[in-house]
Amino acid sequence: MSIDHNDIAKKLAILEEIAALISRSHELQDTLDHVCRLVTRQMDCDVCSIYLLDETGENLVLTSTEGLDPASVGKVQMHVDEGITGLAVEEMKPVAVKNAAEHPRYKYFPETQEEQYISLLSSPILEQGRPLGVINVQTRDERQFSPEDLSVIGSIGTQVAVMVQNYRLLQAVNEHKLPLGPPSRATERQRGGEEGRHSVVRGIAASPGIAMGTAVVVEEGDLMQLFGVKEFVEDTDAELYALDQAISRVRDEIKDAELRIAERLSDEEAKIFSTHLMILEDEGFLGKIREAIRVQKHSGLYAVRNVVAHYVQLFEQIDDPYIADKIADIEDVGKRMLNSLSRKSPDHKRKKGERGILVATRVMPSDAIEMEARGLVGMVSGEGGADSHASILARSFGIPGVVGLENQLRMIRDGDFLIVDGASGNVYVNPDKEVLKEFKRARRDYRSAREEIEGSTKAEAATTDGRRIRLMANVSIIADAKTARTYRADGVGLYRTEFLYITRPTFPTEEEQYKVYSQVIKNGPDDLIVFRTLDAGGDKYMPQLKGPIESNPVLGWRSIRVSLDLVHVFKTQLRAILRASTLGKAAIMFPMITNLSELDRARELVEETKAELKREGQDFDPDIEIGMMVEVPAAALLADKFAKKVDFFSVGTNDLTQYTLAVDRNNQRVAGLFDPLHPAVLQLINLTSKAARKAKIRVNLCGELGGYPEAIPLLVGMGFDGISVSPTSLPLVRYVIQALSAKDCEQVAKKALRFGTRDEVTIYLRGVLAGLDLPELDRLR
Ligand code: PEP
Ligand code: MG
Repeated sequence: MSIDHNDIAKKLAILEEIAALISRSHELQDTLDHVCRLVTRQMDCDVCSIYLLDETGENLVLTSTEGLDPASVGKVQMHVDEGITGLAVEEMKPVAVKNAAEHPRYKYFPETQEEQYISLLSSPILEQGRPLGVINVQTRDERQFSPEDLSVIGSIGTQVAVMVQNYRLLQAVNEHKLPLGPPSRATERQRGGEEGRHSVVRGIAASPGIAMGTAVVVEEGDLMQLFGVKEFVEDTDAELYALDQAISRVRDEIKDAELRIAERLSDEEAKIFSTHLMILEDEGFLGKIREAIRVQKHSGLYAVRNVVAHYVQLFEQIDDPYIADKIADIEDVGKRMLNSLSRKSPDHKRKKGERGILVATRVMPSDAIEMEARGLVGMVSGEGGADSHASILARSFGIPGVVGLENQLRMIRDGDFLIVDGASGNVYVNPDKEVLKEFKRARRDYRSAREEIEGSTKAEAATTDGRRIRLMANVSIIADAKTARTYRADGVGLYRTEFLYITRPTFPTEEEQYKVYSQVIKNGPDDLIVFRTLDAGGDKYMPQLKGPIESNPVLGWRSIRVSLDLVHVFKTQLRAILRASTLGKAAIMFPMITNLSELDRARELVEETKAELKREGQDFDPDIEIGMMVEVPAAALLADKFAKKVDFFSVGTNDLTQYTLAVDRNNQRVAGLFDPLHPAVLQLINLTSKAARKAKIRVNLCGELGGYPEAIPLLVGMGFDGISVSPTSLPLVRYVIQALSAKDCEQVAKKALRFGTRDEVTIYLRGVLAGLDLPELDRLR
């Protein structure tokens, strides 16, 4: 079947027209009538009708129509278990029927005179996965509705849903059904902020799920730069008492974090906290602070700041990596003490047991790790894109997140109650009772859908016609490896080793790395673990990499370029990976390879390292596989040349998209342009897959695209052997794979690769997905 590009363009035009129409809408009935007219005209059909559920939620009432008898509006009603229209609500997905009268659920309503219409497409109108009604399209001539038709009508349904919901809300407010004034006492958890200050702010959906809790605003700026701090105090005893209280709070805080983080990270990664505790117990350090208060009558804040600054200054003059470690630790402890003394702990408004949501202008990967350790349940940030590393970490922790709020972040204050909707990108600030109730229900729904999907974990990731896909996990920290094992991943397709480096100020030693790598092998799935060598730079800031500030860090000294320059650092890592390779099945993978010479040099260094280990009598797997990331367009374009030199490819669509489309993956201002489904990116992905198959090497994909349900048929169709995704996405991706026929997917890929715009690709792929039998999918998004 050939693709009708005009057809898709036309459908895009309808969606745009409907969006414009809805944005101007004042009157519900009028707008719905307009929508029906527009759909009939633009989709070349004879009828378009909208049925809305009544207050009981059990009856569908014909509310608007173009084509059926207008007198039947408001009169025709059916129970949700009646008719094909009811079936769309029951199944929560579009139902397309070529000959409606022959369908067992067909129900005839004489008043509509619809017997003259043969084919019917019924699509539910869903808001947050909850049905509000149905939109129907009917034709006089027999018609096979296409996947694009399904996708377009689904999108129209979503737009109509938002309008209907908004309209109902407004109506309810006008009729005083909803409290928009100051929050009542009965309103659950509406403290913080000004009375009645509530709003919805919109950002980029970064990690799915719904989180509710108190905003924990982490302010930017260095606390060590406290301005306007009172220098002297009268009552030194009171100040000393306050200091002791603060120290004890910080001690509890660190112990708490250490305990929690030790469960989620390795002992090595958690070690940072014992150093902090040691500093806090150090009599030399504390003695100086106490003395400054007692003798010089300094305030606690002033004394702590000065003593910490004094230590830092002293240590900076000593050129020793061990001491460098201590500087960062002392600064960290100092900040915690200042926070505690000024009672500005980021968690200070959080009551015990209450859930907190991290709110920050920029969430760095290290903050994201800390977020997990502090038991925060949601993440909101002013900067960042959906595929920035903080977002990736939030997804791997299963923490709902919204990023890229820009200036709207100012609308959120510390202590506000928030609902973070990680699927839509909305953050509700001090929502009212109704909204809260709605989201509690949606969260229950989301959880139950996830539980059902997790059932797919019992069987392997294979298509209906028996094609086995290696479904692997992307791992950043030990906890990911455990989750990957729980969800029965077929190995780890990408272990981002750099997170071990991010959490410490100096390079980890060979022994430290060996310990962590061994734990990943032991805790992770009993299958291949792909160790990606250090991928530093870009947004993965590393304290160890001191150097001139670069104006384009993403195009600068990063990743394999750093490893090939700092040979000793690279070899230390290779030694640790090679030694750990005897504990299971491991592979080495190089990031950001752009030139053949880089690959040659990296391989050479692996060989050198092996020879050194052999001389020392150390064990390692001599046949360890070597692979490379394809994440720079140059590598994809030369994939046939690279394929001769490696055992496998892994396509990193995050960076490949960034470099192909010239869109910074962390810049929210251009986030709308970042799309791995852009046809240019797809061409490069396909080129890589083709080259791999020709050279008979494995080809995997480990970018975030692998977690997009609509991309799975495309990737299976392009011939990918494996897909590696964030561990929490494993059940969903497996669930989609199990519904696919590999043979059909090849056709899907062929067709998708012919499009010239990302919208065409997306509409088409969503249509394909909508045509599959995946009832739980809507409830998850
Ligand atoms: C990628 O770029 O797609 C990738 C998987 O690597 P990272 O996200 O760690 O840069
Ligand atoms: Mg990358």
